[in-house]
Order: sequence, then C-alpha cells, then structure tokens
Amino acid sequence: MIQKAISQYLQKQQHTRLTPKAILFDMDGVLYDSMRFHARSWYETATNHHLISTPQLFYLYEGRTGDSTINELYQTTFHRDATEEEKQSIYKEKADLFNQYNDGKAMPGAAEVLATVKSYNLQTLLVTGSGQHSLINKLEKDYPGCFIREKMVTGYDVKYGKPHPEPYLMGLEKAGVQAHEAIVIENAPIGVRAGVAAGIFTIAVNTGPLEDQVLLEAGANLLYPNMTALAKDWSNIMKAIQESQS
Ligand code: CA
Repeated sequence: MIQKAISQYLQKQQHTRLTPKAILFDMDGVLYDSMRFHARSWYETATNHHLISTPQLFYLYEGRTGDSTINELYQTTFHRDATEEEKQSIYKEKADLFNQYNDGKAMPGAAEVLATVKSYNLQTLLVTGSGQHSLINKLEKDYPGCFIREKMVTGYDVKYGKPHPEPYLMGLEKAGVQAHEAIVIENAPIGVRAGVAAGIFTIAVNTGPLEDQVLLEAGANLLYPNMTALAKDWSNIMKAIQESQS
C-alpha cells in the first residue's frame, strides 16, 4: 500500500525520486490535541457576531489563517470581506476564548512520531497557519529540540496561508530542501491540499471528526487514524521509500 502511494505520488508530481530529508509538521490536530477548542471558540465568537456557522465548519476551515477564516464567515453572511478592524477584534476575541478553553494537551503519539523521525536523522520543522502564541511558545517545552523558531512558518510569516502552497514552500526553503526531499504531516483537508500543491508527499492523520474520504479527496498520499499509528508504521514508510529508490 505504501509502495503504491509512493509510485502514485511520483507519477502525479512528476518527480523521479522521493528522498526525504525534512519532515514538515502542522501544529493543531497533529502536535496538539487542540482542534475541538479552536472549533468551540470560533463557533462562539462567530455566533456573538451573528456570523453564520456550525462547529463542524471550523474543521473544514482548519489550516486557514485567522484573517482568511473571518473573511469566509463575512462572505457567507454579509457577502463582503471583513474590515481590518473587524478582523482584529474578532481574532482577538476568538484567541482569548481559545486560551481560556485550551488545556494545552499534546497530541497522543506525536512525541513518538518525532522521536522516530529524529532517529532517521531527518530535520523537523513546523508549518502552521496559527498565530496562537500560547501554543507556539509551548513547543520547546513539549517537544524539546524539535522545532527552532528560525525554521518555523506560522500565521505571522505567510501572506496567503493554506490551502495555498505558500506555507509549505516557505517550509521547504527554511529546510533547504526540494519538494521531493520532504514529507508533510497534516490533519486537515485544507492543509493536505497545501502540501500536495507544494509538490510534497503528504501524510494525513485523521484526528478530528471528518470522514477519511475528505482527506483522501484533498489528495493525501497516506492516511492514518492517529499519530500513534503513524509512529508505529514509520519504519515501514522509510523501508518502502528505500525500496522505491532501487
Ligand atoms: Ca491542523
């Protein structure tokens, strides 16, 4: 199954080889079990401002920057973009609620994935649409030595954000590698689309409430139910990659 995923990737992206040197990690829903707190705080904030939404909607928007999410809500409800003032005040309100609700728990299995990835001497980088300092500042404590600030791509670094390939292209640049020399780990359909659009082999972990099919349709090359399952299978992925090169 992994072999087949690799050959489909190479064919679709027109690469001749997959030779990973860097692994690009999304944050919410991958490194932190935080998405339900994001969904709750977005939904409550939207409702306070009479913006049409459902809690589920924010799993489909997941990966977008705050500004982009707010614009989507304004377009749906008022058929216009939000103003700068609206974007700032709504994002602050959402971030304050998130900080109140979030328990800061690391995603089960994520530390195991990172330890396994490190044991293969692969670089690890963060590529997130988030601008939540409360989590970004915790990374060093929860995943010591894994993510250095100079090599992070956050909501503050990007212009377009996911699903545009920009954040992952910036991640490749910061890692100093090409698309066929990286792997993306994502949990959201929009994040998967961004990884695939950047030409990178993209592994989805379905840690949220959406159907697997949504992630596969977004273009995920491999799909795991959670980070623990991914950690357990990492050696098989590396073996299949080795074999695909011979
Ligand atoms: Ca995510």
